[in-house]
Amino acid sequence: MKFRSIKGTKDILPGESEKWQFVEALIREVMHEANYREIRTPVFEETALFQRSIGELTDIVSKEMYTFRDRSDESVTLKPEGTASVLRAYIQYNLGEQSPLTKLYYIGPMFRQERPQAGRLRQFHQFGAEALGSSSPQLDVEMMLIPLEVCRRLGIGSVTLKVNSVGCEKCRPAYRKRLVQELMAVYDQLSEESKTRVKQNPLRVLDSKDERDRAATRTAPLMKDFLCDECRMHFAEVERLLKETKTPYEIDGRLVRGLDYYTKTAFEITSAALGSQDALAGGGRYDLLVHELGGKPTAGVGFAAGMERLMIILEKLGQSPDPHIRPDLYIAAADNAARRWAFRFAHQLRQKGVAADLDYLGRSLKAQMREANRQNARYVIVIGDKELATGKAKLKKMESGQEEEVLLTDLASKLA
Ligand code: AMP
Repeated sequence: MKFRSIKGTKDILPGESEKWQFVEALIREVMHEANYREIRTPVFEETALFQRSIGELTDIVSKEMYTFRDRSDESVTLKPEGTASVLRAYIQYNLGEQSPLTKLYYIGPMFRQERPQAGRLRQFHQFGAEALGSSSPQLDVEMMLIPLEVCRRLGIGSVTLKVNSVGCEKCRPAYRKRLVQELMAVYDQLSEESKTRVKQNPLRVLDSKDERDRAATRTAPLMKDFLCDECRMHFAEVERLLKETKTPYEIDGRLVRGLDYYTKTAFEITSAALGSQDALAGGGRYDLLVHELGGKPTAGVGFAAGMERLMIILEKLGQSPDPHIRPDLYIAAADNAARRWAFRFAHQLRQKGVAADLDYLGRSLKAQMREANRQNARYVIVIGDKELATGKAKLKKMESGQEEEVLLTDLASKLA
């Protein structure tokens, strides 16, 4: 019997994992510069948390969550996104009382039972941020600037920022009513999926990719033309800030995103390098959500971006980071006495922060040299009777082939 990883999951193997570490470090740097602090929430939560926040009628909750009953018959769910857990923790630990504005970020795995394809996995990773406690449009724009800055530092220039306003509880109901009327007039022309959405989630019909829906809704009214004064001013300020920061953007009146909780600003960052699954990041404002989840009314805004998709773009652009992971020193040993010495010496070197490796397979000196080459070691020393007796050895720099005689007692400090 051979075990394989589960469909839609991926192992991040050596060679890849170093690239992930590099990108993660860069993300942490960008988050730190904007004063976001890391939060790590559990991988699973009470199912009701996601039903309540993401919304029962969304694709995520209605068909994608990994939900199961544990051995105490509690319904738990592997988190499909980060915001709900972060807000749960924010409320649970009264973080709002410690400071009127809380800026948090996360990097971690998420789970959705979607049909796997290029760029779409069942376990994937997101990095994201949430700012809780302010309704300032500056934070809406900060949420767009953070993932864009991550892209910029990674040399990804080919991204598009799309923004929209989905209104609020004051202006959306009237628009929604109007939209449903219009959609009912073209009901027969809609795709089956959109037909079921007309009553439940009519705004989603507008961002359907199906050609029939596109054609039928070409002249449908858009939320951005129905905004109340407050939402309109908020959106105008978002646009002004984008211009002020010289951030290219497009207004996409059909952008609603697949989660129910957004109010006012919604945005998405896409990349042509991704193909059909072209969304790299998405986010928006959710001023009602903290209250909805049992906290005090608190304005909030956030984003989430897909790590795998970021890695795909880097690969496509030939800009994958190339972190040099290699030993500083490979110790080749000629006989058993030298092997014993090599193990002890490697231990001492490692304690001083020098990356040292040796042969554990009893291979010939020639094979050990080949291994040192394969590992791309910076230096090699060969240890045998003579070296142990004199306390001196030849240190070979692999790049140039140059050899230098060194005292073994000096080697650690020399390499450190
Ligand atoms: P969402 O939470 O759906 O707004 O997703 C935010 C970002 O996470 C997307 O723009 C993608 O980059 C990424 N993402 C979402 N779902 C998946 C998935 N199934 N596989 C890989 N990445 C995903």
